[in-house]
Amino acid sequence: MVYLVGAGPGEPKLSTLRAKELLEQCDVLVYDNLANPELRKWVPPTCIQIDVGKSPGRHTLEQRDIEKTLVEHASEGKKVVRLKGGDPFVFGRCAEEMLALDVAGISYEIVPGVTAALACAGYAGLPLSHRECGSTISFLTGHEDLSKEALRVDFSKFAKVGGTLCIYMGMSKLEEIIGKLLEGGMSPDIPAAIVSNGTLPHQRKVVTNLSNLSLASKKEFLQAPAIVFVGNAIGRVGQKGNWFESRPLFGKRFVLTRPVGQVSKLKFKLENLGAEILELPLIKILPSEDKKLIAEVFAGIATYDWSVFTSANGAREFMRLFFLAFGDIRSFGPMRIACVGEGTAEVFRKYNLEVELIPNTSTAENLAKDLVATDSLDSANVLIVTGNRNREVLVQILQDIGHAIVDTLPVYETDFSDVTEIPDLDRFRKQGADAIIFTSSSTALSYIEQEEDLSLEEGACKPIYCSFGPETSKTLKENDLIVKLECTKPSIDEMVMVLVEHFSM
Ligand code: SAH
Repeated sequence: MVYLVGAGPGEPKLSTLRAKELLEQCDVLVYDNLANPELRKWVPPTCIQIDVGKSPGRHTLEQRDIEKTLVEHASEGKKVVRLKGGDPFVFGRCAEEMLALDVAGISYEIVPGVTAALACAGYAGLPLSHRECGSTISFLTGHEDLSKEALRVDFSKFAKVGGTLCIYMGMSKLEEIIGKLLEGGMSPDIPAAIVSNGTLPHQRKVVTNLSNLSLASKKEFLQAPAIVFVGNAIGRVGQKGNWFESRPLFGKRFVLTRPVGQVSKLKFKLENLGAEILELPLIKILPSEDKKLIAEVFAGIATYDWSVFTSANGAREFMRLFFLAFGDIRSFGPMRIACVGEGTAEVFRKYNLEVELIPNTSTAENLAKDLVATDSLDSANVLIVTGNRNREVLVQILQDIGHAIVDTLPVYETDFSDVTEIPDLDRFRKQGADAIIFTSSSTALSYIEQEEDLSLEEGACKPIYCSFGPETSKTLKENDLIVKLECTKPSIDEMVMVLVEHFSM
């Protein structure tokens, strides 16, 4: 079976649910350059990935090779996805592939995609139709096969068609196309636009009139892939349509360093504000279970006056173990809860458990001092739930100054991840980023230890360093890294605010 699948215009989230579902299950993926590499992250690890990227001028033979590849793999009984940019039926040579499959007796399914013209129009705020001045929409190709007279688009004729023209592959012959349209009687003042790399973080556009289009495009260095639009409808909303590129973090690239599976909330918020996210999980969290110790702590859970949590990871892991042991929230008992920051406290609020203490500045030291200041520690039983780092200071203050009886329960271990195994590493080294966001001291230490593997190639954008809190900043500064932006506490919302303030200036 072969699935001829439209990948959409660029932004991965504009691909269809069907496309995602098929990618997640395919045995073989045959893709070319317009399909966003991000989509390839959806295929199973065992999937064979074949790049059949076309470059102009080398089409004919390669097209036959592509067809052969599809037939070969499908004949072996494999589920093959042929991924094409945009929609497979819009200037995608899909008909030829269908024919080849038919001849070989192989079944296929066609999955439409959001075609570039529609996506570019939407993301540039250029309406393609309008009740007063645009009642037809034409898709044209500017890339003529000069050897075939019949395939040439006569642009001068389209000057009279009216409505909105959407020209694919028009950049290399832009001046010629404009000339033909004017020759055919189109007004030089008619609204015209070019959207290059539509829907992507590096989308660029010019919106002007037909006579000025070529010059404006050169001034902005617009390049393929791009769609050229001409028609009265696209001029109807003007600057108001600039929703995509005017988002506060548009065009900025940020590196998130949290472990896999923990970046989604921050990533979602930053992406919604226009940022592009690279994921470099610099640490990994491994559960560390000392079964005997866990059994002892849980046996005495009713005897603790306070439970103290220094990280969201610890809190989550503790609750997982708690439910494994008891299965019922009522066994949590009367112990009071103190957390280092909001993110950690969130874990307990989900269970409607009240968090009674969060220090203003999120450090273990402040947490300890604030606890001592409650005057409730003298001879109290305190349980500290932690990872394998940064717990000594807490224990010391609570015991020596607060006179508490302290038990510690390590529930996870933080380990550096090997950056050379991270999929986004290559993009980071080539393109760089505007900022790296360090979530914890351990992400900072991992970065410092592996700085060589993370070094940027020439011309890549050099990032500034941002820290989620004073403790992380301290680690960065001790290692001679300049902290440009810092949160007072590890809060996702504060980090987003700090970034917007800095980057939207
Ligand atoms: N099947 C594709 C079109 C393939 S032809 C579709 O439906 O979109 C390739 C042309 O598509 C490019 O030369 C360019 O004109 C256009 N194109 C594809 N992706 C684009 C993007 N992200 N931004 C602007 N134009 C794009």
